Amino acid sequence: MKLKYYPATLELKHTFTVSSYSRKTTPIVLTEIEHDGFIGYGEASMPQYLGESHDSVMNFLSKINLEKYKNPFELETILSDIDKIESNNCAAKASVDIALHDLIGKLVNQPWYNILGLNKNNTPVTSFTIGIDTPEIIKQKVGEANEFRIIKVKLGTENDKEIIETIRSISDKPISVDANQGWKIKELALDMIYWLKEKNVLFIEQPMPKNNFDEVAWLTDRSPLPTFADEDVQRLSDIIKVKGVYSGINIKLMKCTGIREAVKMITLAKALNMMVMLGCMTETSCAISAAAQLSPLVDYADLDGNLLIKNDVFTGSKIVNGKIYLNSMPGIGVTKLE
Ligand code: MG
Repeated sequence: MKLKYYPATLELKHTFTVSSYSRKTTPIVLTEIEHDGFIGYGEASMPQYLGESHDSVMNFLSKINLEKYKNPFELETILSDIDKIESNNCAAKASVDIALHDLIGKLVNQPWYNILGLNKNNTPVTSFTIGIDTPEIIKQKVGEANEFRIIKVKLGTENDKEIIETIRSISDKPISVDANQGWKIKELALDMIYWLKEKNVLFIEQPMPKNNFDEVAWLTDRSPLPTFADEDVQRLSDIIKVKGVYSGINIKLMKCTGIREAVKMITLAKALNMMVMLGCMTETSCAISAAAQLSPLVDYADLDGNLLIKNDVFTGSKIVNGKIYLNSMPGIGVTKLE
């Protein structure tokens, strides 16, 4: 197997603001693994807050030698070897995991939802994310979200109620809320959640700063809406720490090193009776379609990262009537655009 990779920059349609930062572009690295005349595609997306960059990903990938593996099907061996090269570098690791999964699907000529034994019609509805913005831009974005059945809103600001009221002035669709660690006092967070419940909000993601397990457990215990961990859960080993703290977890391929670990995380979370959401970064249709293959396993999906960019270089899974639509192409179901 031969690994190739090159850096690129995704341009966002709108400046994207959450409670802690704002950005217009996202650096990515695209990977290709070639074997037996087939090419598997992968991607690392590196939002600033996770600490990876073009340089760190390229440097990590330069340490991987796939030529020593004769059998690409030995995913467990190959991916655990790569995981041990260095700690962190989760997006870099995911770019190899995704490309390998794509390659294997092509070698057996099956999409991953088939290999995993999933019904492609059981995909969840997916939400469309609206960042923190002025009322005018928020209304414009709600208009762009026309096709979606759930609107995801970033809160954790001084004017959270105003943002929700702005959306409610033009749409009655269910809303999911991501506070991105923005609420600092648990009693006020609880008051806010009661207010949001009356506004047809479905659940709250990462209400408080990470590592505040006692306070979030207090909140979840009293909350009329489910709570989901995002920043508090990165990999498989983090799930056990949030059992009894959150109602569910948000799994992202870029946080957890890819498809293989994501499947393990979904299995563990379900065994612990926790809900599961599949999320994403700003990504091309490559990484989005990879995550979409697993989506029949989860309660909610927030896989809209490819729709927030101007320069996608793949086509893959689509959104039809607000629901994820999986094509029947092998691997992760993507085509590279010229
Ligand atoms: Mg989040």
